[in-house]
Amino acid sequence: MNLFQRVTGHLSTITRHKIKVTQLCFKMGLYKQGLLHDLSKYSWVELSAGFKYYQGDRSPIDAEKKALGYSLGWLHHKGRNKHHWEYWLDRTKGVLECVEMPKNYLKESICDRVAACMIYQKDKYTDESAYNYFMNGTDKDYMHPNSAALMKTYLTWIKEKGLDEAFEMIKADV
Ligand SMILES: [Zn+2]
Repeated sequence: MNLFQRVTGHLSTITRHKIKVTQLCFKMGLYKQGLLHDLSKYSWVELSAGFKYYQGDRSPIDAEKKALGYSLGWLHHKGRNKHHWEYWLDRTKGVLECVEMPKNYLKESICDRVAACMIYQKDKYTDESAYNYFMNGTDKDYMHPNSAALMKTYLTWIKEKGLDEAFEMIKADV
């Protein structure tokens, strides 16, 4: 892929993702978070990493990590976006560990995960997708246990009741 294809491809992916997350956040009543979601992706440090490591079918962050051993784009992103559980990593009691995520950011993370599945899986997306991704991944082993349990509950609602009913339930869970 040449630079032009990577630049337009990456801009298209992050913008389609952002619009989808905004729609889902609005559905959940998170208006301000929906509008502000992932804005740091348009900063130069995140954009340049995205342009350089764009792959089309998965996140450029993994490719940057593979190439450099770390991802400057990701470190910038997770340090500024509270919907990522990695934002909540801190040495509060002497050891490095995750503190519990406030519920509104955990809900935004649900919208983010569902949107990412929709964008990457296209017509293969089902309401089980985000649940399966979470259960097959390792995030749940590192997050605060209460945050991991709540995330699993919300994703189970989506899987079992479908997006519309589950979003109503999540919205009502304050
Ligand atoms: Zn994000």
